[in-house]
Amino acid sequence: MKKNYEAIVIGGGIVGCAVAFELAKRGLTDILLIEKGYLSSGATGRCGAGIRQQWGSELNARLALESTHIFEHLEEYTGYGQSCGLQQGGYLLVAYTEKEWAQFQENLKVQQALGIDAKALDLQQAKEIVPFLNTEGMFGATFCEKDGHANPFHCTMAYARGAARMGAEILTYTEVTGLRTQGGRITGVETAGGDFFGAGLVINCANVRAPGLAKLVGEDIPVVSERHQALVTEPVAPLLRSMVMSFHRSFYVQQTPHGSFVMGIGPHEEPSFNTRSSWQFLEKNCAVICETLPLLRKLNVVRQWAGSYDLSPDHIPVIDEAKEAKGFYSVCGFSGHGFMVAPRIAILVANHLTGQTDDLDIRTFSQERYQKGVFLLEPSVV
Ligand code: FAD
Repeated sequence: MKKNYEAIVIGGGIVGCAVAFELAKRGLTDILLIEKGYLSSGATGRCGAGIRQQWGSELNARLALESTHIFEHLEEYTGYGQSCGLQQGGYLLVAYTEKEWAQFQENLKVQQALGIDAKALDLQQAKEIVPFLNTEGMFGATFCEKDGHANPFHCTMAYARGAARMGAEILTYTEVTGLRTQGGRITGVETAGGDFFGAGLVINCANVRAPGLAKLVGEDIPVVSERHQALVTEPVAPLLRSMVMSFHRSFYVQQTPHGSFVMGIGPHEEPSFNTRSSWQFLEKNCAVICETLPLLRKLNVVRQWAGSYDLSPDHIPVIDEAKEAKGFYSVCGFSGHGFMVAPRIAILVANHLTGQTDDLDIRTFSQERYQKGVFLLEPSVV
């Protein structure tokens, strides 16, 4: 294996693999992607893989809309020979408070202005979409039929194989432990095995570990790690075509094409790198979900797991070049929705790094916004 590359990508989740793919697609094919475990071993392989365009901030709505267009043909886009499992059965977002319902009306204005086909539903209409929905305490719902979910392993592999086909090399089970700089520029990375790989461009897509790596070159990125848990049930016949989600009660639930239900509930925990499952999650999650969708009470849970959200202060990603190590970029802070925006973020990053124009301004994502007090706050997160 070579010792010097034009670019190194750290992290083999969907973001790192998509960035490698988009760079290679633009002719920057001399790339090494380094992943400390296996591809998708981080948050990507532990996520709900939901894709929704019903956001409250224009930025997130736009990132998700343009990413959805790519998910809709990711197989052809990357040359992947298998299905990436996209299922567009819509997201039903339910409002439990008057304030939340008012926020949903505001969100709809943002979405509809971008051409996102989302609409408000009364409780009767919500029950037409999910007949066994318990609407007690609900004010209303919004629905976008083009929202859905995909298979995170296949989507990531589609990008990785596409990048490799164009020349990128992928090194798994190798941890980046050090960064080298010279004259204020990045020169390469050191690995736990004692190797050094040189590159003048390093893209740090290590999710919750990205701030720690950036710190090695003097950058303070205010992104913290928060444990989020999920579970999967036994597979049953198709019952639920749409994802059901509540911000107020902080849950989401969907049925996969295979028939099992995947669901999760937001935590209220201190930042940590803990990725152990807990019985408290199991208990709380099942209580909330069974109250909302009583039919699911009969299902058996087969497995639960935990992963990490890389939380930024305003729930909008951070894309930043280190001041003391030019050529070292961090792409993180996805705050629980990095899967669904990864395709568009990767295009933005690759356009910037290869000198191509983009109608999104990459500077919008700079963490300088926090120093300037410009928070791009997203009101609609689980
Ligand atoms: P990761 O997939 O974590 O990839 C980063 C990789 O970097 C990891 O594989 C890690 O091993 C590697 N790495 C770290 N440090 C090093 C190092 N020093 N050297 C080499 N490699 C390193 N998002 C959605 O859009 N929709 C959802 O429905 C959704 N549901 C979620 C549910 C749960 C329970 C969780 C935990 C997350 C969910 N997310 C969801 C968020 C989503 O998973 C992430 O935002 C997204 O996967 C981020 O991708 P990534 O490539 O940045 O991170």
